[in-house]
This record gives sequence, C-alpha cells and structure tokens, in this order.
Amino acid sequence: MVVQQDLDCVVVTGGAGFIGSHLCERLCESGAKVWCLDNMLTGAADNVAHLASNLDFHLTYCDVTAGIDVPGPVDLVLHLASPASPVDYLRLPVQTLKAGSLGTLHALDLAARKGARFLLASTSEVYGDPLLHPQPEDYWGNVNPVGPRSVYDEAKRFAEALTATYRRGGSVDSVIVRIFNTYGPRMRSHDGRAVPTFIRQALAGEPLTVAGDGLQTRSLCYVDDTVNGILAAAASGHPGPLNIGNPEEMTVLDLARHVRRLTRSNSSIVFVESAVDDPKVRCPDTSLGRDVLDWRPQVPASEGLARTIAWFAGQAAEDARTRAVPSSEAAPGPEDDASVGVDS
Ligand code: NAD
Ligand code: UDP
Repeated sequence: MVVQQDLDCVVVTGGAGFIGSHLCERLCESGAKVWCLDNMLTGAADNVAHLASNLDFHLTYCDVTAGIDVPGPVDLVLHLASPASPVDYLRLPVQTLKAGSLGTLHALDLAARKGARFLLASTSEVYGDPLLHPQPEDYWGNVNPVGPRSVYDEAKRFAEALTATYRRGGSVDSVIVRIFNTYGPRMRSHDGRAVPTFIRQALAGEPLTVAGDGLQTRSLCYVDDTVNGILAAAASGHPGPLNIGNPEEMTVLDLARHVRRLTRSNSSIVFVESAVDDPKVRCPDTSLGRDVLDWRPQVPASEGLARTIAWFAGQAAEDARTRAVPSSEAAPGPEDDASVGVDS
C-alpha cells in the first residue's frame, strides 16, 4: 500500500529511534521537509545518517520533556519520543514517565501553535495483561498502576488522555495509534526485546533466553507495515485510537524456534525468569484500521524475520570488519564525536 499525502513540513519526535528513523526515511522520500527531534536517549544519529545529504532533513538535538520548537510552518507532528523496550523503560523509569507526560504536553502545544495535525504513538501496553482477546480499541485494558511496567503503560495512558483532551477542546486535530510489537532493521541488538535478542543470540551461537514457559503470545508487525499504518492514520481525519499491528499471533517459544530455524543456528533454548506483569497474550483486532484506513499488514513473520536477520547479520559482519581495522585507520563513529550530524 502506498500512502500519499501532500505534506510540506513534518516534525518527528524520537525520529532517530527504530520506528522514527523509518518514518523519517519515508517522509523524505515523499519530498517533505522533516524535523527529526531526538535526545538520543535510546536512539542514534547513525539511524538517520543516510538522510543527512537531504537538505530538507534536519536532525536536531531536543529533549521533548524540556520544550519543543522549530522555525516555520508545520503540517504534522508525529510524537514518538519515548523509551519503548521493557529493558529500556525499566532502567529509565522517570525519563519514560516524563516523555509520556511532559513530552506529550510539549508536542501537543507545538501542534496547537502551528495548527498542525498531531499523531500520538501509543502502544498495545495500554491494554496491560488483557482479559479480552484479541484486543479491540474500545477495550479499556487491565493495567497494574503501581507495577514496574506502569512507568510506560500509565505514561502512555496519560498521553492518550491528554491528546483526547486537546482534541475535545478543539485546540489540536489529533489521532492516537496503538502500535503492537514492531520489529525490523535498526533495532538495537541489546535493546532486550525478544526479536533482536533471539536473532543476536542465534547468530552468535548462544542460547536463546525464553522467558517463563514461553507460552505467552505476541503478534509481530514488520516495520514497513507499521510505518504504512502510521502514515495512513496521519493522513486520515480519524481521531483513533486505532490499533496498528499484525494479527499473526505466535508464542514466544515458537518465535525463538522460528529464529533458530531461519538463522540455521544450533543454539539451545533456555528458560529464564519472566518479567513482572508480563502480558500473557497480545493480539490486535485490526478491523477498525481495515475499515477506516483501508490498511492491513502485508509482510508475514517468516518474510519480515528473514529480512531482519539479514540486516543483523550484515551489521555483525560490519562490526567484525571494523574491529579488524587498527583503530587509527577506522572511520570516526558517532561515539567519537556526539555532535556528528546533529544540529543543536
Ligand atoms: P526507540 O527506543 O528506538 O525510539 C524512541 C526514540 O525516542 C529514541 O530515538 C530516543 O532517543 C527518543 N527519545 C526518548 N526520550 C526522548 C526525549 N525525552 N526527547 C527526545 N527524544 C527522546 O523505540 P521505538 O521502538 O522506535 O518506539 C518509538 C515509539 O513507538 C515509542 O513512542 C513507543 O512507545 C512506540 N511503540 C513502539 C512499539 C514497538 O514495538 N517498537 C510498540 C508500541 C509503541
Ligand atoms: N522475551 C523473552 N526473552 C527475551 C526477551 C523477551 O522470552 O530475551 C519475552 C518477554 O518476556 C515477552 C515477549 O518476549 O513475553 C515479548 O517481549 P518484548 O520485550 O519483545 O516486548 P513486550 O511485548 O514485552 O513489550
């Protein structure tokens, strides 16, 4: 599906992260001027380095919890800035609460000042450990408000409430999308999420660490499909919430076996302790997205995982090559100069 919309200027908060970088790429391809705002908390300038030669692409250091501004008119604000992996948000609990609350407040204020449409990247985590399966958008969820995951779940629920309030008050035309587990190239190999962890472990011949009995389920959506869904929601006049995910559900144990097969790895599978409040099932009801956006995911898990594995294998080979070159000859990386390619 091709999503076309005449957009002159788009702000992407969290644009140097995994999903954000794919969005920036697609927006640049469509000819839009893009402001990519990020504080590199869990993202990296490297993720958008290939866009640096585009004069309409602006990577700017910005902590959205402190305030947001860009010069000139803006048509659309895509608000993605927030840690997203459980390992990240459990190690960054206060930053995560602030990104969902203060960050969303500042992103909405920017949209209000510029008269721009606003999209909130919310999450399937607002359904918590769901008692209804699959999850439709009118399900209110089952979230532990004081458990460790609440730093993410409740921040996103607050962000949804704030977005809906600005919309009801007439100050911002907005849409909320609830993104389900998305995977693909540019995930960090150590971000702790199941897909990059299993791929990294399988490629290295290490045991795959399956949490609990591995019978909990997830529904994996390839990043190109998620980007299509986000852009379709942004282009629609719909307020959401809209589920963006792939209903192809599998157990985590099957995911580990799938990755092992696709990588032709001899790794064993070991069972490790599961996280507190780890949801037992997760699968989107995507009928609303189908009806109002004419959007449906296209990439089956077998194909998306194969593409993702190929990318991770390429990265591992590149890392090995870089390590083999004496350090005086190696090209400077972003860690050598944090300001590379970043306006501040
Ligand atoms: P990510 O960690 O790769 O990207 C998040 C980006 O936000 C990073 O570049 C990070 O540096 C930036 N960021 C964090 N706090 C910031 C701040 N205070 N100011 C500026 N930038 C900040 O994660 P992702 O998987 O790309 O997720 C992007 C968004 O999509 C998040 O809002 C997440 O909640 C949502 N989402 C993702 C998934 C998924 O499966 N990937 C699922 C549901 C929702
Ligand atoms: N998981 C796992 N091993 C890992 C990482 C994750 O078994 O090394 C499990 C995790 O406990 C959860 C599922 O895989 O049940 C998906 O976890 P992920 O962190 O990818 O995303 P979540 O859906 O929890 O946000």
